[in-house]
Amino acid sequence: MLQRLVQFNTVNPPGNEEPAQQWLREQLGAAGFDCELLEATPGRPNLVARLGSGSDGPTLCLLGHVDTVLADATEWSVDPWSAELRDGYLWGRGSLDMKSQVAAEAAAALALVEEGWRPEAGELLLVFTADEETGASQGAQWLCREHPDRVRADLVVNEGAGAVLHYGDRRLYGVCVAEKGVFRFRVTTHGRAGHASVPRIADNALERMAPLLEALRTKRPPLELTPEPEAMIRALGHDPSDPERALEEVSAKDPLVGILLEAILGVSLAPTIMRAGEKINVIPSVAELDVDCRVPPELGEEHVLRAVRDVLGEDGYELEFIDAVAGNRSPVDTPLMDAIGRFVEREDPGAEVAPVVLPGFSDSHWWRRAFPDCVAYGFFPMSAMNAIEAYALIHGPDERIPIADLALAATFYADLIVETLR
Ligand SMILES: [Zn+2]
Repeated sequence: MLQRLVQFNTVNPPGNEEPAQQWLREQLGAAGFDCELLEATPGRPNLVARLGSGSDGPTLCLLGHVDTVLADATEWSVDPWSAELRDGYLWGRGSLDMKSQVAAEAAAALALVEEGWRPEAGELLLVFTADEETGASQGAQWLCREHPDRVRADLVVNEGAGAVLHYGDRRLYGVCVAEKGVFRFRVTTHGRAGHASVPRIADNALERMAPLLEALRTKRPPLELTPEPEAMIRALGHDPSDPERALEEVSAKDPLVGILLEAILGVSLAPTIMRAGEKINVIPSVAELDVDCRVPPELGEEHVLRAVRDVLGEDGYELEFIDAVAGNRSPVDTPLMDAIGRFVEREDPGAEVAPVVLPGFSDSHWWRRAFPDCVAYGFFPMSAMNAIEAYALIHGPDERIPIADLALAATFYADLIVETLR
């Protein structure tokens, strides 16, 4: 199934998800699922497949998106849409993010139904969205807003974590329980234009940007101990009461884990785009710097502004938000977390489960926002490939997944379905 899914080119933009969604609908429809394709834009449907029991019980939603980011074939060792099997891996764009999970979820459900299994209570929902990679306005965001009755769920399992993290002699499987908010902003400096041959006749807005850029390079907002990094520091075996010291200890033991931990310990600021001047002989009167900023769940603009002033100071620039979406979270202690813990203990005795916050963004956000009582986690277990290796391949060249991990994940989804809907 994953090979076939990778072979549908669903690079977003433009997405063109319809052929992949039609194919999934055929598989699930033939097995007895009630299938609907719901689209905000022609050619970009979302698939909702439902298998009910007729009796009361939880709705378990296995979620995934079928679009991918682009791939530059010249940087790859294989054709990114070949889905080639080589060296125990399946190669291709989307093989990790996240056609793998779509395939594992669908394969788990189809295998159960083929064996004659049906839910005894509640219902099973498979929801495969379009348009996750560019903001979900045609996908999950639209689906949860326009068709809440079709996608309402008590439990949601989506992407976000699950690959093993080796840390010293510990093995941790992350469960993504929250996502950071996105508060992108533009910093503008103003000066006065003038002829570049007499520099001091003017006031160069680009030079006024220099101290701000330098501040972003050398300072960071204060570390903040929200529940998710606190749980992660504990899971790593350190004391979270002093986050500064905990980060130093973790970084000394494993610099890469330190980098990941730092990204979730508060507001992060990353300058990404700069603009100034149009002619080489004219000193620019305006300069702009766009900053990607990620914020711990549930915190808003006021909080971001405090963190930004901490780094950039109060004066000498204007600030305007471009994007502002607060992150959200699900509770950590739930029966779903217990079920994941039992699976990990069974498959990898001695390993532990660690709740984590995703520094990025995923479709889980839209479910938590539309259905405040639902528990939405990101979990796709992988043990052959670890979290650091997976991070390095997602959105990059030579994206690939160990075939063994695909099987591990399918086993997890099948177990979860049977355990939840009885
Ligand atoms: Zn994804």
